[in-house]
Parts: sequence; structure tokens; C-alpha cells
Amino acid sequence: MAEPLNILMVSSECVPYAKTGGLGDVTGALPGFLRRKGHDARVVVPLYSFIDRKKFNINVTVENVSVQMGSGKITFNICETINSEGVPVYFIDNGQFFKRDNIYHDNDFNDYHDNPLRFTFLSVAALQLCRVLSFKPDIVHANDWHTAILPAFLKRLFRDDPLFVDTASVLTIHNIAYQGRYARYYYDYTGLSENDFIPEKFECFGAVNFLKGGIHFADMVNTVSKGYESETRTMEGGFGLDRFLNEKGEDYIGILNGVDYSQWDPAKDTMIPANYTMDDMKGKAVCKSALQKQLGLEQSGETPLIGIVSRLVEQKGFHILAECIEDILNNMDVQFAILGAGDNRLETFYGDLPGKYPGRVGSFVGYNNDLAHLIEAGSDLFLMPSIYEPCGLNQIYSLKYGTLPVVRATGGLNDTVEDYDQIRGEGTGFKFSEPDCRSIYKTVSLALDTFGNRKDHFNKLVKRAMEQDFSWEESAGEYIKLYARALAKKKHR
Ligand code: ADP
Repeated sequence: MAEPLNILMVSSECVPYAKTGGLGDVTGALPGFLRRKGHDARVVVPLYSFIDRKKFNINVTVENVSVQMGSGKITFNICETINSEGVPVYFIDNGQFFKRDNIYHDNDFNDYHDNPLRFTFLSVAALQLCRVLSFKPDIVHANDWHTAILPAFLKRLFRDDPLFVDTASVLTIHNIAYQGRYARYYYDYTGLSENDFIPEKFECFGAVNFLKGGIHFADMVNTVSKGYESETRTMEGGFGLDRFLNEKGEDYIGILNGVDYSQWDPAKDTMIPANYTMDDMKGKAVCKSALQKQLGLEQSGETPLIGIVSRLVEQKGFHILAECIEDILNNMDVQFAILGAGDNRLETFYGDLPGKYPGRVGSFVGYNNDLAHLIEAGSDLFLMPSIYEPCGLNQIYSLKYGTLPVVRATGGLNDTVEDYDQIRGEGTGFKFSEPDCRSIYKTVSLALDTFGNRKDHFNKLVKRAMEQDFSWEESAGEYIKLYARALAKKKHR
């Protein structure tokens, strides 16, 4: 094995403490797999007020640590727990920035106005924590715009500290649409100099763009699938940052997210009413019946049931589905089980749908992990009509649950789902290219036809889907190679 590394992962989300999406899943799972491979991976996250300290056995380790922010000092406590995989997780406990009901926004979905300050503070506090705990990181691993300032901090404000002289930085982009673009004022607050406020680094039309600065300063940058890596290098998919990613050349790569099969495997899932395997699928029928009951759908094993679990936002394509789901319902024998939260307009539309199609559509607006598991297990098909999808986790869960994904061929969805070959009866799901109603309608229709009239093919696809393995084991190995490249780059500078 290569030299064991000290890895500090810093993130605004981490499962099981705080999550809105895939970012939390990754920072919750990857460090455990790095540890299993012999590395000392640790995580730093904010101690939001909704995190249950008792339940997670989170205790204060060091009190009254302080950092310089703008012209003032901010103090915080370092709290700590060890997660189920033996990973030390540190929590930055500061009331001013993290005593909030949600991670990014208030209860009306308005972003907290001080988000750039909150996450700049998280980043500087993470490095201060290393000093206080005498943890010498080989790698500081930043995630998304929130902590993208870390590579610049290491190369500038913390450069002369012996603790960090050998530290290399990695930035993972989980979604390039969220870049952290804010008024110049927030840059001044970071303590970085005027010299780095230029278009090649942090500046973007007079404002600060945290993700852009991170891309410039990080030793290595990656995103969460190879397909999304290629897409973000184009004008259409790069959201203005394609040029900067292309300038990174080979220092920007794609690594597919793994999934945590200790949580998402129908053979041992504790959140579903019956377990099942590829060789004994009886439990899946029990799950389908339980899902139908829970969401008020008609009890029918024969009727195909399409599941949806998602943030209800335009990125995920649910505004397009809204335009054709009623055509699908009016012309096809199908049920929908929908779980999601997000845009008010989409929440209202999908929340009202069961009233219009009683017994055929069930929906729950909100966040509900138990129901997410039941939908994965109890559905026959799983729909993800995303406009773009950096990796996507639910389609990978769906494969494992033998719930065939119906997806738009984009980013990680395209990388993980093999399209149905109607001649040979091969594949693991159903794919379409265009983000429009016609394509969704046609592909759903093909999937339902296969379910109803080509059972031999459908069952073959289910089996092949369940055989797929996207565990973290392999992806964690890719991250270790990424860290090694970041360290090599750092040494040769
Ligand atoms: P993104 O990070 O863009 O939201 P991903 O597919 O990468 O999309 O990850 C989404 C994760 O969040 C999955 O684990 C999914 O099960 C979960 N999730 C999304 N919405 C909900 C919800 N309303 N209730 C429960 N889990 C949800």
C-alpha cells in the first residue's frame, strides 16, 4: 500500500448529520472507505442547530478557538464524534453562523444572506482546527463553492505555517451550477489580497466567484462522473467555467460517486417491510403493496408503478414532466409514487396530482428518507428526466433494487445506465436523449410496454441491473490516486 495519508475533508453537508443531496452522501461515505484502505481521513462540518448532539454522541473537544475574519475575531468550539465507520467527524460550533434551521436557506427557501461569510468561516475554522489538534493534513479536500476557498487559503494565508507546507489541495465539484457568486464585499472579508481578485482567479464581472477561485488554486479538481466532466468542459455545461476547467487540462478529472450499499441494498435494508435478492424477489411484491398502501394507491401487483425521489427543481427536469405526466396518466395504465421538495410551483403541482388522479398517483412533498427507501424497493421503474446530472445516486440505488431506471442520457445517468436493447433484451434501463415531453412520453411508453408485454426481457434487465456494482471500494481507490497526483504536483512546484 502507498504511504498512509492524513486527509481532511471539509464540507457544508455530511450524512447522517446534515444533507440536502449527493454532496452529503459523498462526504458521509467516502472517508470511511479511505480509512479502510489505511488512510487517516477526517471530516469537518458545521454544527447546525438541527443536528442532534445526543443521538450522534457529539461532544465538545476544545472550547473558545478563535480565527480572524475581516477586521474581527470569531470564536468557536470544536465538537467531535466518531461515525459508524470509525471516522472522526469534527463540528464547528458557532452560534452566529450555524444556529440555523436549515443548511442554506430559511424556511421560505430564501438563501441565508450571509452564506459566503458562513462558509468562508467554516473553511478558515477547519484549518485552525488542524493547528489546535496538531493534525498535519497531506490533503485538504474541499467540496463545492462553499469550501472552494480552501486551496487559496493554503497557498496564501496559511502558506508559511509548517503544518501546511506539504499540504496539497483537492476540490470536488458536485454541481457546477452552484458557484457562490457574490458581491465584492464578501471577497474583502476573506483576507485574500487584491492580486487574486482578477478574472483568472476569483473575480467575475466585478463580483467574487468562489468556485472559480477554487478551480484555479486547487492542485487537482474533479467532478463526480466522467460524463459530467466532459459536459462541464463545454460552453453549454460549464456554466461559464468551461474555459477555466479546460485550462486545468489533465488536472481536472471525473470520478463516479460510489453508493453506500450498507444503506441501499434490498437484501439488508432495514427501512423496507421485506428484504429480497435477485434469486428471491418475493419481498419486492410485499414492498410494492406496502408502498401502494402508504401513498393511497390502488392495490395491484400488475399495474406498473413508477417511482420518483428528487429535489423538485428545474435541473431535475420536473417542469418538463409536469407538462406531460397527465398525458401519460390519461393514455397509459400506470401508477406514480412521488417524493420531493423544492420549488413552490412544482411542489404544488405534484402535491395536488393525487387529488386529480386518486388511487393512481401518490405524492409526499417534503424530505423523508424512509419513504425514499420504500419507493426504491416498491416501484417497478424509476424516473429521472434530468436536464443535467453530475452523478445522480437514485438511479444507482434503483439498479440495486431491481427498479429499472428511466433516465435522460446525461452526465452520471448516462454513465451508469445501459439502454435497453430491444433485439437482444439487454441493458439495465431505458434512456432518452432530448429533454422534452415527446422523449419522456415515448420512453415511458416503451418501458411500460416491456413491463407488460415483454416480461422475459424486463426480468432479464432487472437481473442485470441488480448485478451492477457501484460500491465506493473502487471510487475510493480513484480518490487515492487523485490525492497522489495532487501531492506530486505540489512537490514539483
Ligand atoms: P442531488 O444531489 O442533485 O440532489 P443526487 O441523486 O446526487 O441528487 O442525490 C440525491 C440524494 O438525496 C439521494 O440520496 C436521494 O435519495 C435523496 N433525496 C432527494 N430528495 C429527497 C426527499 N425528498 N426525501 C428523501 N430523500 C431525498
